[in-house]
Amino acid sequence: MVIKNVNLETVCGITSVLPDNQMPEIAFAGKSNVGKSSLINGLMNRKAYARTSAKPGKTQTINFYNINEELYLVDLPGYGYAKVSVKEKEQWGKLIERYLHGSKQLKAVFLLIDIRHDPSANDKLMYDWIVSQGFEPIIIATKLDKIKRSQIQKQLKAVKDGLKLLPGTTVIPFSAETKQGRDEIWELVEREFL
Ligand code: GDP
Repeated sequence: MVIKNVNLETVCGITSVLPDNQMPEIAFAGKSNVGKSSLINGLMNRKAYARTSAKPGKTQTINFYNINEELYLVDLPGYGYAKVSVKEKEQWGKLIERYLHGSKQLKAVFLLIDIRHDPSANDKLMYDWIVSQGFEPIIIATKLDKIKRSQIQKQLKAVKDGLKLLPGTTVIPFSAETKQGRDEIWELVEREFL
């Protein structure tokens, strides 16, 4: 994908009406600090356009980035931030559910997992939930540059086993530092979802 222009077109909070977009949407989910903003910035060739988390979990919005008037990258709010109240968690759940249920253009959901750690209970819940909404999440194993080469296969297996991934699920390792995985993600999006 050649990035010609990117535009944060819509920001939706808990009370917002979600946009009735006419172009394909590709959504990204993951716990706070997993590297979601860094991934989206990397995909857009921008350094800091998507918010990077000064206060993880505090921004409960869904952000729609218009790419080349061709598609949207959709930044879902991060989950699993301990300091968030029960009420905020509920609102978060409702917002995401409204989006996953309601969007007519949502083609794919990517779930980000930090390659260094076994998936958490929240990651597993999120994975199962996305599946129950009728999507086959694609997994991005983030922060690839933070582990040794010799550890990669072992950590990928831990991600697969921890989430009990459906057979055939795609897992793409990604590094925001080296951009490894970036082209693979765009190729997959262009091939399967545009
Ligand atoms: P978000 O909360 O999921 O949006 O996470 P961010 O993108 O803000 O990243 C959280 C922290 O991890 C930041 O300090 C990033 O610089 C760092 N980070 C994200 N991705 C990578 C990566 O691929 N490699 C390294 N080394 N650090 C990363």
